[in-house]
Amino acid sequence: MSAELEDIHEECGIFGVWGHPDAARLTYFGLHALQHRGQEGAGIVSNDHGHLIGHRGLGLLTQVFSDEREIQRLKGDRAIGHVRYATAGSGSTDNIQPFIFRFSDGDMALAHNGNLTNCPTLRRELESQGAIFRSNSDTEVLMHLIRRSEQPTFMDKLKEALNTVHGGFAYLLMTENAMIGALDPNGFRPLSLGRMTNGAYVLASETCALDIVGAELVRDIRPGEIVVVDDDGYRIDTYTDRTQLAICSMEFIYFARPDSNIYGVNVHSARKRMGARLAQESPVDADMVIAVPNSSLSAASGYSEQAHLPNEMGLIKNQYVARTFIQPTQELREQGVRMKLAAVRGVVSGKRVVVVDDSIVRGTTSKRLVQLLREAGASEVHMRISSPPLKYPCFYGIDISTTKELIAAKKSVEEIREFIGADTLAFLSLDGLIESIGLNADAPYGGLCVAYFNGDYPTALDDYEQDFLASLTPEDRVRIPKFALDDSDYQGNEFSCQKGLKPGEWPPKQ
Ligand code: SF4
Repeated sequence: MSAELEDIHEECGIFGVWGHPDAARLTYFGLHALQHRGQEGAGIVSNDHGHLIGHRGLGLLTQVFSDEREIQRLKGDRAIGHVRYATAGSGSTDNIQPFIFRFSDGDMALAHNGNLTNCPTLRRELESQGAIFRSNSDTEVLMHLIRRSEQPTFMDKLKEALNTVHGGFAYLLMTENAMIGALDPNGFRPLSLGRMTNGAYVLASETCALDIVGAELVRDIRPGEIVVVDDDGYRIDTYTDRTQLAICSMEFIYFARPDSNIYGVNVHSARKRMGARLAQESPVDADMVIAVPNSSLSAASGYSEQAHLPNEMGLIKNQYVARTFIQPTQELREQGVRMKLAAVRGVVSGKRVVVVDDSIVRGTTSKRLVQLLREAGASEVHMRISSPPLKYPCFYGIDISTTKELIAAKKSVEEIREFIGADTLAFLSLDGLIESIGLNADAPYGGLCVAYFNGDYPTALDDYEQDFLASLTPEDRVRIPKFALDDSDYQGNEFSCQKGLKPGEWPPKQ
């Protein structure tokens, strides 16, 4: 995992299974493969003949389920689970999912990955109508909307609710009779359906979790789709045809595991291509390439192959640093880098090194890295970043929602180079990123959300809009055409894609 991006977190990972006698244990295995998506809490809810049983807690999955009896208690041949990253101030068990809702007409459980841009408004409206929330996560909003809907059937209620929430979401729902997955109209987060040899179906945030339970990929769930799994198999439905693909590019850069495939693109291979492209765009005379372990290993191998330079292990990661030790203050963050990473003197001493990392967030970690390498004797340190500069906040499920923490929002590349103390610094271009990932979807930016890099958000920002507009510089307002309007004219950019791509039109084949 890149040192810098460890401070950025995605909420969360989801996994569900339908039709396997050991459903809770399989869910445990699936969540284990998704642990990189959230380490602060985990939970599993099983469905035992319509009765939902749950266990959840703070910490890593192995801590939450340290007692084998907890898994044994979760009986039934169907289960859903969740691993969560809790943003500051919300790290209580109240927010650990899946949530169980007990209604007179049956139990339901719900887990969610993403962030709703209109959540504060919806919550206020629902509260004013008497709704009571038991957590401060935005996940419960969907259930209130379903229950308040006056549509005739459950599926109609669900569709109405899904059309009311905005932003980035992958939902996993368990009712008495079905497991249901749903993806937002831009498909910000990945969600895949798999099938096991015994006929059980699995839904997971990433395909690496399908692999771990021996499930074969059936298909990726696409923007605006609902997948319903029950005793008759699975079926795909849609709740809107106003969709486009704008999957989070950070999934390919950093979040997803290298062995996962997203819409047929292997994450490791995409990262390797990013590294190779970076070497083409920003070559440098050097003796070796070194990766910042672990998430930059793929990009560094691509850079070294393209540049015909040896790929050496110049940095070692201590695999045993508990995340909880890394406190979010500047001083402790810097100490944290020393605990996590060590430079290998015997490799880098007297050498000109190219360090490949996947991003620079605050810049403090990169600065410490450069220092570590110089202290270990490196004669030159050239930083190469396999993504463009992070300049804008994310409103779809990544907990950077202001530009304050992003060094590239305030400084030029040369100023960042000076700050981190590298001899040279270069970032991958936006075109380089899009072409390296190579989704080639018929949608803006090839089917990727790249708002982190260029401020072009695929949706209206709803409750975040005014604050974001106020933070834009005059240059940004010219550069990002949709924000060049007067605030009073700004109606929100519901969908920047004019093509009206319908679910099922893309990708053509898998
Ligand atoms: S803004 Fe950035 S992190 Fe958020 S969904 Fe888009 S690319 Fe991903």
